Amino acid sequence: MSGISSPAAALLPTYRRFDVTFVRGSGARLWDSDGNEYIDLLAGIATVQLGHCHPAIVAALERQARSLWHVSNFFYNQPMVELAERLVTRSLGGGVFFTNSGAEAIECALKLARRHRPRGEFVVLEGGFHGRTFGALSATPQPSKQEPFAPLVPGVRVVPRDDPERLAASVDERCAAVLVEPIQGEGGVHPLTRELLAAARAACDRSGALLVFDEVQCGIGRTGSLFAYQHEDVAVTPDVVCLAKGLGGGFPIGACVVTPALRETLRPGDHGSTFGGNALACAVANAVLDVVDDHAFLARVRARGERLRRGLAELGLHVRGRGLMLAFALDDAPAFVERALHEARLVLNATGPDTVRLVPPLVIEDEEIDSALARIASLLGC
Ligand SMILES: *Cc1c(COP(=O)(O)O)cnc(C)c1O
Repeated sequence: MSGISSPAAALLPTYRRFDVTFVRGSGARLWDSDGNEYIDLLAGIATVQLGHCHPAIVAALERQARSLWHVSNFFYNQPMVELAERLVTRSLGGGVFFTNSGAEAIECALKLARRHRPRGEFVVLEGGFHGRTFGALSATPQPSKQEPFAPLVPGVRVVPRDDPERLAASVDERCAAVLVEPIQGEGGVHPLTRELLAAARAACDRSGALLVFDEVQCGIGRTGSLFAYQHEDVAVTPDVVCLAKGLGGGFPIGACVVTPALRETLRPGDHGSTFGGNALACAVANAVLDVVDDHAFLARVRARGERLRRGLAELGLHVRGRGLMLAFALDDAPAFVERALHEARLVLNATGPDTVRLVPPLVIEDEEIDSALARIASLLGC
C-alpha cells in the first residue's frame, strides 16, 4: 500500500475518528498500537455485549468456521434455525427475519408494516434514530442527517417524544406503524415514559397500526432484561422488535422479530438479504444468548448499572438511562470525551454537544467501574 501514510488516507471521511488504532481487547479492556491500556465504556457502541474476545464466543466462532459459513437462504442451516427458535420463544412468539445490521432490521419492519397496511404512514418520535439507509433515515427526524439526501421516503409523521396525547392523535387508520426506541440511544439516552409507550400501544390497538420497538441499541440484556420491552419500567409489548448491535457481541447480525399474527405478512419473494442468517453470525449470536439469557447474568447487569449510576450521581452528575445504558449531561461533552481518551485512557462517547454516553460491555467488573469513576472524577476536577 505504498503512498498511504495516514490511517485515514484510504477511508471516506464519513466519521470523525480519534487518532487511535486499537489492536487488542479483552473483557472491558482495550490496548492501542502504542501499548496503552484503556477501560472501554462504549463497547463498540453498545455492541460488544460480552466484552472483547469472550472465550465462549471465540470458541463458537472457531467451531462454526471449521464446519460451515454460508449456504444462502435457499436452504436452512442449523445455527440459524436454533437462533430463530430461541429469539422467537423468548420474545414475541411469531417469527424472525435475519439481517446484517440495525438499519436493515428497521427496513424489514417498515416493509412488513406496509404489507400489513398498504400505503400506510409511519409515526416516529423527535430524537429518534433508526439508521442510515433511505427508509431508516426517513424515519430518523434529524435535519443534519436528512437534508443533504432529500428527497426521502414519504409518509413519515414526526411527533414529540413526551406528549402521549399528540402521539395518540397522530395514529389513525392510515397509519401502518409507530416506530420508537424504548430508550432513545443516539438521541442522548432518553427513556420514553411508561405513559407514552402505553399511549402508543393503545393507539395501535385502536387503529390497527403496528407498534415497532427499535431495540437495536437497548436490547439483548443492555437494560437488565433480555429485551428492553420486558423491563418492568416499560411493561408494553410491541408487535415487532428490531435487534442488532448486542445480538452478535461484535459480529454483524440483526433481526426483526414479530408476533404470531404477523408471521405470514411478508410472503415469499417480498424481502431478502444474501448474508442474513448466515451460519457464522448465527452461531456467534447463539453463544451470546447462552450467556446473556440468564437470570443471574441479567441481575448482575442491573447491579453493575446501579453501581455506575450511583457513582456518577455522587460526582454531582445528572444521570439518565437504565441498566448499563446510561448518560450524563455535561457542557462540551465532545471535549470531555477526547480528554478522557488521551488523559485517562477511558473510551467514552458524546451523543451530542452536552451528553456523555456510557454503554460498557455487560461483563464489566466492579473494579473497572470504580476505576472508571475515579478517572471521570479526576477529569472533572472532583
Ligand atoms: C445503531 C442503531 C441503528 C442502526 O444500526 P446499524 O447497524 O448501524 O445499521 C438503528 N437503531 C438504533 C436504535 C441504533 O442504535
